[in-house]
Amino acid sequence: MNIGLPKEIKVKENRVALTPGGVATLVRRGHTVMVERGAGVGSGIPDTEYEAAGATLGSAAEAWAAEMVVKVKEPIAAEYGYLRDDLLLFTYLHLAADRPLTDALLAAGTTGVAYETVQLEDGSLPLLTPMSEVAGRLSVQAGAYHLQKPVGGRGVLLGGVPGVQAGHVVIIGGGVVGTNAAKMAMGLGAKVTVLDVSHRRLTYLDDVFFGKLTTMMSSEANIRALLPEADLLVGGVLIPGAKAPHLVTRDMLPLMQEGSVIVDVAVDQGGCVETIHATTHDDPTYVVDGVVHYGVANMPGAVPRTSTFALTNATFPYVTLLADGGRAALNRNRALMLGLNTHAGKLTYRGVAEAFDLEH
Ligand code: NAD
Repeated sequence: MNIGLPKEIKVKENRVALTPGGVATLVRRGHTVMVERGAGVGSGIPDTEYEAAGATLGSAAEAWAAEMVVKVKEPIAAEYGYLRDDLLLFTYLHLAADRPLTDALLAAGTTGVAYETVQLEDGSLPLLTPMSEVAGRLSVQAGAYHLQKPVGGRGVLLGGVPGVQAGHVVIIGGGVVGTNAAKMAMGLGAKVTVLDVSHRRLTYLDDVFFGKLTTMMSSEANIRALLPEADLLVGGVLIPGAKAPHLVTRDMLPLMQEGSVIVDVAVDQGGCVETIHATTHDDPTYVVDGVVHYGVANMPGAVPRTSTFALTNATFPYVTLLADGGRAALNRNRALMLGLNTHAGKLTYRGVAEAFDLEH
């Protein structure tokens, strides 16, 4: 199959959907890969590495002309013209939040397979997990930085020093984001408490991190009790398919100390802190009632090199299935079939159809 790798043109998107190692594997399996010049530059991958792996370099139009196009972000309006009915597109699509793109894919008859809806039998979303891992780890790094006095924080070093107590990191939601945040916070030497509503998750965390963190059932009373001692609060709650519940409400903010920091990673689902709103890497924080709020909605964008390799580790097995088997691969792999959102002018994913009240 001929596979195209366009450069991402969405503002501040520096990731790329295939690494040179992935290209080399595809070429070895008999496929051809057309890489848009400069596609990997934002992730520190020069064109020469793709060429050495066996790719041909070309323009955006040449990359988009391939049978299958592999991307990171959903096509933006400037890319709609490249959509066609014999195109197999594999990327994050997030269609439920994007009516214009849904209409463009349907009008063009493109086969659109979305990373975010590829789902394993246990219900997990393997192509979202790596970005939650990145965001979870980054949340503590960002929080530790913003706790510094010169940038508006309380002036607390999370790890403390001998003779001085460590900072307290309170994590709401002990899933992928929460677990990765906990690892980083413990690595820095902070005191860590994780709250979740899932007893199974709390048991797992207690087993894995025995003695090094505190687990607590997530309830309003427990959250209220912890807020006065939290230096850094990380939000990592997810209720699949729904907005995040507001677990820290506006009236609870005065319980927190002046200069303490909230990093609400769940901001992309509305946030689990009532006062959070989406911010950007250029201007990531704002202050409400003396508490620093960090609400960057695309945290992995800050570390595109790591994110590119993390994402492609997860996507590449599916890229290979699609390259080897074409559309027929969807029938042979249930997880991949669940990724199918549009085909031949029809919506093929219930959640998106319901969002727009369309047939599927
Ligand atoms: P996950 O499903 O692995 O974990 C979510 C956890 O929240 C689960 O353990 C669940 O039991 C728990 N939970 C549900 N209700 C709760 C409650 N009331 N109190 C406490 N815990 C509760 O999800 P994840 O992959 O860790 O993702 C978490 C959030 O982070 C999602 O909203 C995701 O979209 C977001 N995210 C944001 C970014 C970013 O850049 N901002 C990046 C990646 C992921």
